[in-house]
Amino acid sequence: MSETLECDVLIVGGGPAGLSVASHLSPSISSIIVHQDAEIGRPVRTSGGSWLRDVQALGIPSHLYQIIDQLDFYSDNAKALFAVHRDKMVVLDITGLYQFLAELSADKDRRLLLGTKFLTTEKQADGSYISQVRSRQSGVEKIHSKYIIEASGWKSAVLEALDLGQKPTRTGVGIEYEFPIGNYPKNRAILFVGATALTGYGWIFPTAQNTLRLGVGVINPDTDLSPRQVMNSFIAGGHAERYGIEIPEDYEINAGIIPSVPYERQMIYDNVIRTGDAANFATPTVGEGIRIAIEFGRILGQELSAHIGGDARALKRYEAKAARVFTRDYKYGFAMNQRIAQYSPDRWDKSVRRLARLSEHEVTQMVRSRFSAKLILRTIYLSLRAKLVG
Ligand SMILES: Cc1cc2nc3c(=O)[nH]c(=O)nc-3n(C[C@H](O)[C@H](O)[C@H](O)COP(=O)(O)OP(=O)(O)OC[C@H]3O[C@@H](n4cnc5c(N)ncnc54)[C@H](O)[C@@H]3O)c2cc1C
Repeated sequence: MSETLECDVLIVGGGPAGLSVASHLSPSISSIIVHQDAEIGRPVRTSGGSWLRDVQALGIPSHLYQIIDQLDFYSDNAKALFAVHRDKMVVLDITGLYQFLAELSADKDRRLLLGTKFLTTEKQADGSYISQVRSRQSGVEKIHSKYIIEASGWKSAVLEALDLGQKPTRTGVGIEYEFPIGNYPKNRAILFVGATALTGYGWIFPTAQNTLRLGVGVINPDTDLSPRQVMNSFIAGGHAERYGIEIPEDYEINAGIIPSVPYERQMIYDNVIRTGDAANFATPTVGEGIRIAIEFGRILGQELSAHIGGDARALKRYEAKAARVFTRDYKYGFAMNQRIAQYSPDRWDKSVRRLARLSEHEVTQMVRSRFSAKLILRTIYLSLRAKLVG
């Protein structure tokens, strides 16, 4: 076994959350990111839908996304089509974006250990941690750090190792085929629900790299079906034709898992702090978490720096900010998630017809899991109206 590596902050997971924490630590703080994959941003485990104003606010260069201004929803027998003017969607180039995020900490005192898996950790008497990691190159190594950032996504590897939490018992599991775009319009995204994607939903996202991502996600254990089975029956049923897409013989396969459990307030466990998917930050309505992982990863990087600098309230500010942003909206969003996971195809048809009566703004707010009192009242009104007048 080689010597023990030393750093102030060990970051477990080189996804958008972990990379963003590293980029916002002050220059005097040393960090090590352990990332189990051999490359940043590959393999792709997500589909990259986001929002223009958020990615602009986060300073993401425009060559890393495709702008979408037509957002269409389909169920088996209904559709709701929206020309989006106010809150445009984007589809992110995942590999390019994550590598851009990694570059943002390249000039800092941080090491990036690729192909290195966090195995376990032990708290020391002085409150620091000695963690064991397994590197593909050098075998098991030890890392001594004062703090650990739990940014391992749905795996919650650090909290699990310390018996402070466990992997989520309910997850969204997705698979995506990516292939050349052909004649499909580059500005149009589709979300589909109903018999072809029960418990979850499907998506068709064009990218800036002239590819199309066709994906389906299901919620386990709400269904026993795997996303691959759902995708196979989507293709065998000829449904791709309805959306004007042709699936070639050859395609790339992307696949991933996201927690689908309620948001909980606690972020700080002594000197272990969680963020990103490991903290359930993705929206409960559609499982969109990249922009949130970046924004809150950066906040955590700043607040942890302030904490190390002597500001005793700094980490609590991070936890409180997350609670302010997520508690209310995610409570409604998760209730909605559980309800719609049980919808029958017929119920989806009714729901998509109701969706067509909402404004473009109301729809994008709902997809973003932003539930104003006005939006809640309006959806209740439309639901009651549908029951009374059909
Ligand atoms: C199928 C699917 C589709 C999605 N679509 C969208 C979308 O359209 N838009 C959107 O915004 N979000 C989407 N999401 C959600 C989004 O991917 C996540 O919210 C986001 O990736 C969270 O970032 P993170 O850094 O917290 O976690 P992750 O991106 O999961 O990164 C964690 C990293 O930690 C690494 N890791 C795990 N365990 C260890 C370990 N023991 N040691 C070392 N490294 C480890 C993993 O390899 C992983 O790369 C989707 C998710 C899935 C599964």
